[in-house]
Amino acid sequence: MKTHFDVIVVGGGAVGMSAAWRLAEEGRQVLVLERGRLGGEASGAAAGMLGAQLEVDEPGPFYDLCLASRSRYPDFVAALEERTGIDVQLVHNGILQLALTPEQAAVLQERMAWQQLDGTRAEWVDGADLPAWEPAAARAIGALYLPDDGNLSAPLLTRALAAVVGRLCTVLEGAEVMAIRGGETQVQVQTVTDTFTADHAIIAVGAWAKILLRQAGVECGIYPVKGQLLAVRPPRGVGLTRTLVTEDVYLVPKRDGTIVVGATEEHGAGFNRDVTVDAVTALWSAALEAAPGLAGAILERTWVGLRPGTLHGTPWIGPVPGRPRLLLAAGHFRNGILLSPITAAMLAAAVAGETWPPLWRHFLPPAAVIDGEA
Ligand SMILES: Cc1cc2nc3c(=O)[nH]c(=O)nc-3n(C[C@H](O)[C@H](O)[C@H](O)COP(=O)(O)OP(=O)(O)OC[C@H]3O[C@@H](n4cnc5c(N)ncnc54)[C@H](O)[C@@H]3O)c2cc1C
Repeated sequence: MKTHFDVIVVGGGAVGMSAAWRLAEEGRQVLVLERGRLGGEASGAAAGMLGAQLEVDEPGPFYDLCLASRSRYPDFVAALEERTGIDVQLVHNGILQLALTPEQAAVLQERMAWQQLDGTRAEWVDGADLPAWEPAAARAIGALYLPDDGNLSAPLLTRALAAVVGRLCTVLEGAEVMAIRGGETQVQVQTVTDTFTADHAIIAVGAWAKILLRQAGVECGIYPVKGQLLAVRPPRGVGLTRTLVTEDVYLVPKRDGTIVVGATEEHGAGFNRDVTVDAVTALWSAALEAAPGLAGAILERTWVGLRPGTLHGTPWIGPVPGRPRLLLAAGHFRNGILLSPITAAMLAAAVAGETWPPLWRHFLPPAAVIDGEA
């Protein structure tokens, strides 16, 4: 078996697979090493929102990165569908953030103001008009409407990425990486059974980054943030057209007629994967508060995903300081699906030795990552 590649991607989630796909399209020989199965962790578990405007609380580089990645999505998905025949059910249905109290209305209107100033579309929907927009939704004071945020099916996205990567790259599933060495001139990557070398290695192991990087001599503060979700099928004739969000819950209508309800954000749960009755009932009661019209819905499934969290909430993307051939793509926390297209472009440009635009440089792993202060 071939043991030297241009690039080794460790981790077959949306981030790693998007990078592998892009690099392979640019003519590089890419090996993807995945401990379990491609898309089997956070990426396949995500709610699939492309919530660039929903997710960011202030203007700045992270907001700009999210918008830039969202704008890449139509082409990204079209190329994926062309190569795999898989429709990932991308919809541009917008997101409605409900204000159930005057305080929430004030916060949302402030958000609307800075987003409009920033040149993005955000509009206020009066409470009296809401029933016409979403008949199943609660009577609210009003809602912030973000028409350009959308969603897709995360399981279908990961299936499509796995298909394209399987065709263009060498892929080993069930291949846990135990050690990574080098990074100055070449990288050596060791699984339980084999050793591979490459000109560059990309570490895209999601919530497991801290464990793998530590043995590579790199300290970072990435940790798992457990999220529990459920999917329901609403009663016949009832549904949502747009994603509904309150302070406690989001309800994401999928093109197959189901609604994904999420999610808990559990920072101290480690790698625990239990679905708890408490979480499911709390999510569903928050869902009914947001959309009483969904009462009587059928529970389709429940599941758990482990987000790669960072203390600062934004990802690290690019070369590890002092080890230019060892690239990090981790800490995408709540937005790894949204950010996969731009992360792939950033990594491909880094591998090609291209100069990055100033925006991207905000996300370079800082020197502190190396000495454990991050
Ligand atoms: C409940 C929930 C809801 C979410 N909703 C959204 C959303 O609506 N929109 C959005 O944009 N994002 C959302 N996210 C966040 C998103 O899922 C993550 O940010 C994203 O999936 C991270 O992708 P990744 O490829 O870095 O990680 P992962 O998908 O976790 O992939 C990492 C891979 O690395 C592998 N791996 C680990 N260690 C090793 C090793 N030593 N050797 C080889 N392989 C290894 C793992 O098996 C795994 O497959 C959500 C996440 C959760 C949990």
